[in-house]
Amino acid sequence: MKILKFGGTSVGSADNIKIVLDLIRLYRNNGESFAIVVSAMGGLTNLLVDMGTRASEGDPDYLKLLENFEQRHFEVIHALIESNMHPEVSGKVKAKLLELSNLLQGVFLVRELSPRASDFILSHGERINAYIISMAGQSAGLPTEYLDTRKLIITDQQYGSARVDFATSNENIKKYFTSTDKIQIVTGFIASDLKGYTTTLGRGGSDYTASILAAALDASDVEIWTDVDGVMTADPRKVKHAFSLKAISYQEAMEMSHFGAKVIYPPTLQPVFSKKIPIWIKNTFHLDFPGTYISQHSEDGSELLIKGISSINDIAFINIQGSGIIGVAGFSARLFNALASRKVNVILITQASSEHSICIAVQPDEAEAAKQAIDEAFYYELQDGKVEPIFVERGLAIIAVIGENMKNKPGISGRMFSGLGKNGINIRAIAQGSSELNISASSCSGGRSQSFECTS
Ligand code: ADP
Ligand code: ASP
Ligand code: MG
Repeated sequence: MKILKFGGTSVGSADNIKIVLDLIRLYRNNGESFAIVVSAMGGLTNLLVDMGTRASEGDPDYLKLLENFEQRHFEVIHALIESNMHPEVSGKVKAKLLELSNLLQGVFLVRELSPRASDFILSHGERINAYIISMAGQSAGLPTEYLDTRKLIITDQQYGSARVDFATSNENIKKYFTSTDKIQIVTGFIASDLKGYTTTLGRGGSDYTASILAAALDASDVEIWTDVDGVMTADPRKVKHAFSLKAISYQEAMEMSHFGAKVIYPPTLQPVFSKKIPIWIKNTFHLDFPGTYISQHSEDGSELLIKGISSINDIAFINIQGSGIIGVAGFSARLFNALASRKVNVILITQASSEHSICIAVQPDEAEAAKQAIDEAFYYELQDGKVEPIFVERGLAIIAVIGENMKNKPGISGRMFSGLGKNGINIRAIAQGSSELNISASSCSGGRSQSFECTS
């Protein structure tokens, strides 16, 4: 059993969906057993976010976006589905669109968009697309069937980025897949909580859906089909000379994705890693490219010292410093518990050996919550001056240099930092994990603050 996942661009138009259907036919003819996870059509999740925001702001223009959303789907129906199936398919799609339109009207009237309503709105991208593709498959003579993952993947109620209840979900997935031998066209990204409300797994979460299914079903492989030649040494949109990697380890993939390589959604690595199921990253538009192979091993036959460079452009830094944190047992535990209680995800931590300061990097939209959590947790220390007032610094960036071959090789960080220095970048903080997988640095140069992350 394989799980194939096709991202937004791969299923973003009738022409591209046709390529996907041809691939499905090819795999079927090869006698493979597989399921297909699909994203919303490219750009449509962003459009849904925009619709929800506009409706909540009382901007009637959300209706124009809704029209565009409808049109993109009907173009596919007309191009790929036989006319005798149109009444059934159009009827079902119209029912889903009516639900969406009512939902948005409700948001427009009350001028409020709750995270739960937002997830329900966003789910329409994957639900409508997976349904249409399953029907386009049937129209092309393939035994495809629509599968709404809300009935299988159960999460908590952290809308927008829900956490999976693996015990329940795995059982549901196994049970469901033994009951059908049709080719499942599965909604990526969406799930439901115990009360049956729709949740989402975080932006980019369709990769994660594929991995959850693969681990539950003990699949032989996961194939993530996207719009570039696999995992490259850097984002090809940013670095002209980036080239494709043949093979990387789970750890390298984790580091690259965590530090900005959008080609894999970071949580994707966890379920497959625990079962040692390999992932292939393939290109829907370049079928001759064999793919990047992600497994326990990092060897790819090359002597590359580093595998890649990732970056996150917009990061906020919070510095906690003061005499009150030196040699005080439990200070870090209190700090990270306080952040966890506000669900703040810490991207990077540095602590000087003097223990005088701890620096954390967070997403900018979580920075205020992080500051409040720290202010509350250290109220008395702040009052007594043992901890200095907490400031949030915005507009920073992180760069990660990744590669297992860098371990035990001296001089790599020296080369990196001298490169940064030559470019006038003044490094402010550096951190390296004991696994030698992570070096961090932050800088402030010419009034412009930056932070750099180097993974070795
Ligand atoms: P999909 O819609 O198929 O899930 P995404 O847009 O989420 O695709 O991810 C693919 C994109 O990731 C590529 O188009 C590329 O711009 C970006 N990307 C960032 N870093 C890398 C990298 N190191 N290797 C390949 N692609 C990368
Ligand atoms: N459609 C969702 C998003 O754009 C999930 C995905 O594409 O993986 O975030
Ligand atoms: Mg993606």
